[in-house]
Amino acid sequence: MTRTAVIGGAGFIGNSLCEKLLERGDEVVCVDNLSSGRRINISRIETNERMLFVKHDITEALHIEGRIDRVFHLASMASPRDFATHALDIALTGSVGTLNALLLAKEKRARFLFTSTSEVYGQPARHPQSEDYWGNVNPVGIRSCYDESKRFSEMLSTVFGSTHDIDVRIARIFNTYGPAMRPGDGRVVPNFVSQAIAGRPITVNGDGSQTRCFCYIDDMVDGLMKLMDRDGLRNAGPVNLGSDREITVLQLANMIRDATGSQSKIVFQEMPGDDPVRRRPDIRKANQLLGWKPKTPLADGLNMVIERYSSVAAKTVR
Ligand code: UDP
Repeated sequence: MTRTAVIGGAGFIGNSLCEKLLERGDEVVCVDNLSSGRRINISRIETNERMLFVKHDITEALHIEGRIDRVFHLASMASPRDFATHALDIALTGSVGTLNALLLAKEKRARFLFTSTSEVYGQPARHPQSEDYWGNVNPVGIRSCYDESKRFSEMLSTVFGSTHDIDVRIARIFNTYGPAMRPGDGRVVPNFVSQAIAGRPITVNGDGSQTRCFCYIDDMVDGLMKLMDRDGLRNAGPVNLGSDREITVLQLANMIRDATGSQSKIVFQEMPGDDPVRRRPDIRKANQLLGWKPKTPLADGLNMVIERYSSVAAKTVR
């Protein structure tokens, strides 16, 4: 039986990954400091006898009893809203935290997967973004705690892997959404869906012409598992994972407004600094190496988020 550590396992992507790993028969050690991850996210799986939850901040050394075959490092707050309020925590999780996660992999001789981000491309001067593009990141901007620590971690994972003979993989995750996102998370899908359901104004930043591609959580987890599982990828370098269906933020606002049947107004507010103007992954590498492509149409994924948020809202009102 494979014993897998998921650092950041109570977070939005981490808890879904833990669930899928348990479903296929892994033993899972879920490590989280519950800063943005939530215990409620793992309540359904915590009773599984193959699941162990360890409350731990990965910026401190991590010791786990027994064998570990695989280490996923997903720990980090990831909402631009958190970049302003938790910059130092994010910078340290993405640097010291990665070192501690790598030290665990070294001690256990485990395969290691680091979850990086589309943010390593910064304000991309190339479109779409393929893995050989080095990016255009502001090293001291409001997103730098996240962007630069992820870039540092890509380097550290690569260097650590070659120095200590660890099989390292790097996923560059693009915008991902799903029903388990915190409604107050601050990212665009939870914001727009909660606003539309409550009939509050939908807050579009700038004129809404900036673009993103939204990948449904199940597709992302499938990609991460494939990237970890596939043999022979030791020197494959970073792999983009995300949807390549590009839409503007204003189009997204309208889609969500229509799908909820909301009467919410769309209001335009100031564009935050360093907000990427266009973002779309080139996902050919993931497709070639893993046979992976996202499957869930945006309309279907949004409906699943809307359903969950509506049922929570209905319970809160009662
Ligand atoms: N955005 C918006 N209104 C909101 C939240 C976000 O218009 O209430 C925009 C944001 O400025 C960005 C896009 O939606 O252009 C995606 O933002 P998100 O925070 O989800 O993630 P990002 O891709 O910026 O990391």
